[in-house]
Amino acid sequence: MKVVIIGAGISGLLSALEFAEQGCSVIIFDQQQAGQAASWAGGGILSPMYPWRYPQAVNALAKHGKVLYQAWNEKLKPISGIDFEIHETGMLIFDEADFDLGLNYAKQFQEPMQHCEYLQQEQLKQVNPRISAQFKQAIYFPQIANVRNPRLLKSIITYLKQHPRVQFIENTWVENFQIRNQKIQSVQTQNGQIYEADQFIIATGAWSEHWSTQLRFSIPVTPVQGQMLLFKAPEHWLPTMCMNNVMYLIPRTDGHIVCGSSMNHLGFDKRPSTQTQQDIYKASIAMVPELENFPVVKQWAGLRPSSPTGVPYIGKMPNLENLWANFGHYRNGLCMGPASAQLLRQLVLNQPTIVSPDAYDPIKLLQSEVENAV
Ligand SMILES: Cc1cc2nc3c(=O)[nH]c(=O)nc-3n(C[C@H](O)[C@H](O)[C@H](O)COP(=O)(O)OP(=O)(O)OC[C@H]3O[C@@H](n4cnc5c(N)ncnc54)[C@H](O)[C@@H]3O)c2cc1C
Repeated sequence: MKVVIIGAGISGLLSALEFAEQGCSVIIFDQQQAGQAASWAGGGILSPMYPWRYPQAVNALAKHGKVLYQAWNEKLKPISGIDFEIHETGMLIFDEADFDLGLNYAKQFQEPMQHCEYLQQEQLKQVNPRISAQFKQAIYFPQIANVRNPRLLKSIITYLKQHPRVQFIENTWVENFQIRNQKIQSVQTQNGQIYEADQFIIATGAWSEHWSTQLRFSIPVTPVQGQMLLFKAPEHWLPTMCMNNVMYLIPRTDGHIVCGSSMNHLGFDKRPSTQTQQDIYKASIAMVPELENFPVVKQWAGLRPSSPTGVPYIGKMPNLENLWANFGHYRNGLCMGPASAQLLRQLVLNQPTIVSPDAYDPIKLLQSEVENAV
């Protein structure tokens, strides 16, 4: 079977891996170099930030993230030469209004939280001595990990580029589909090239609304800008991830600390702003005052593919036999990525699925858009 995948972010790349490992031939397109968009810009926390605030459909995919990435890291590392560091730091949450909700959620759903503790100031200091004295208590999820997403992308791309059944076509915008009898025959690129396949996957992240014009129904996915700051501290300086007021600190093993993030509706503009940089800086210092002693070495912004409820579209698209979706992961595309790609591959190849697919079914989720268009 030949599969065309449009979009080489985490959703498209993991889909390519899933299909290639099942013996399919894959052509994967990106308008720029592979792995440079939201999936590069993200923080890599392998859990929704406050799981109890999200639909269960998001948590059901996210809970597989850590274990599936560990398995991919083992498989890819010998060939790519890259360890993408699944760093099990745990997460401290300081938002007091969420304590009861969080603890109840953790009790009710064992995963992805698995284990959750309420900490008072003394215990908090032991778990993370860098925390500001203003925080007298926290909830602690010791098993939440983060992944070093730029390395993750590099590892997958390196692995796929040496794979005999995978072809990359980069710096090429896919413009439209050639459709006959409710079936896609091929895709056409901006420079007029045609590529045929049996199955076609849309994994175009924040750009997914582009397909509305040709498919003649609205696809409600829009870009939401998120900005980040990067501090450089000594190795292993900050022992845990920290979260307060939807701002977070994510320590990498080499002392880099990723801090974010903002939510701005600015279309496809991903230039960082000074005001947002200052807001993130202030929120970071409020959690860990000693960060003030370390340099900010980088800042950037990326475009999250927002969907109405944060639940991604995964499965067959309406009205066509062989067009599939894996997009709209909004704030959680890195943690949902491995299970999303596995679910997609299982649906396309008619295999038993990792989770029940109904909640992600584009035909159901887009039903009112399709009806309104008729
Ligand atoms: C600041 C920030 C922090 C985040 N933190 C986290 C986190 O901690 N944990 C987490 O799980 N998630 C996080 N996210 C969300 C996560 O990054 C996204 O949900 C995820 O990366 C989406 O992946 P994707 O592959 O769908 O999209 P992308 O990575 O954006 O990839 C889509 C690709 O499709 C290509 N493309 C689009 N249209 C076309 C076309 N017509 N032709 C050719 N190519 C095309 C684009 O060039 C792009 O490379 C964060 C996001 C941001 C911005």
